[in-house]
Amino acid sequence: MNSFDKHHLNDNHCFLCGELLSKKNRSDEHVIPEWIQREHNLWDKKLALLNHTLIPYRQLKIPCCRKCNNESLSQMENEISKFLKRKFESPTKQDEYKLFQWASKILYGLLYKEMSLASNLAQRATGSIVPKEFLENLLTFHHFMTSIQRPFNFVNFTPYSIFIVETLTFDDSEKNFDYFDFVTIGNLGNEADALMLALRVQHYGIICVFQDNGFQKQFFQKQFDRFQGIPLHPIQFLELACKTAYKHSLLTFSPRYSSLIPDFNSNNSEITVIPITFPDENIWASWDNDTYEKLFFSIAKNTGFGALLPDSLYIGEKHLTWLDDGHGNPLKMI
Ligand SMILES: [Zn+2]
Repeated sequence: MNSFDKHHLNDNHCFLCGELLSKKNRSDEHVIPEWIQREHNLWDKKLALLNHTLIPYRQLKIPCCRKCNNESLSQMENEISKFLKRKFESPTKQDEYKLFQWASKILYGLLYKEMSLASNLAQRATGSIVPKEFLENLLTFHHFMTSIQRPFNFVNFTPYSIFIVETLTFDDSEKNFDYFDFVTIGNLGNEADALMLALRVQHYGIICVFQDNGFQKQFFQKQFDRFQGIPLHPIQFLELACKTAYKHSLLTFSPRYSSLIPDFNSNNSEITVIPITFPDENIWASWDNDTYEKLFFSIAKNTGFGALLPDSLYIGEKHLTWLDDGHGNPLKMI
């Protein structure tokens, strides 16, 4: 079985390694880790899927073999929970890589759930409603996610941009968690599909942009560095996440990769990945305020910020922002 054969969107295979599941080896993997659901009392809270249906967090489970669940996934979860439970510290490159893998599992899990629900419905109706290209892109997404269990060498690049910021915490632990994602399936008129996930857990805000080959990180890390030592209010984190998501949707090229896989069957053999497509002069198409505003409100409406939000983000050309104090300095909110 090679890495690309492991990608199954059905209930009979492990979502990660592709192993056929039987009564003996079958288990469920929680998309949002149980420790997070416990600490933030999420079990019965509901998350909006892409088609706007609401599903309780506790039901967000995907089929997984016992081996993956008890070995690579549980090891990853231990490392991540240790990292996220400690006092805020700037992440190392290695921490960022681990968080990328963890974020990949969460977003893949949600898309998996989404697509299996959609295709169940579609089978009864008109066939697949998920464009084939999107599944192909997801194949690459899945391939990179298998770095959870085997070594990958991304040669002189990372396929993702990840931003980690310090966020404010509140006495009520339920207020110390947020989740939003942004997924376009070729519907914003750009070439590439865009996938982004943002999570706020305790002191940590994590924004991960998938398959942008690290360009946002390269150009915009400094926007995040301005907030060093200034923990972000949840609404500031929301704004940064929405800006990152919109920017990602403007990517002008479709990232494609070449993977060298010396031994398909060995989980120890390292996979070498190089990018084979590159942007021309402009990495992103030009920013459009109206489209950004639409995206912002579409994400924000699923958060608890309703009462804090204005009707519009723009008064003429003036942009309402929670990030700036009006004199070019980062705004400190409490
Ligand atoms: Zn497995």
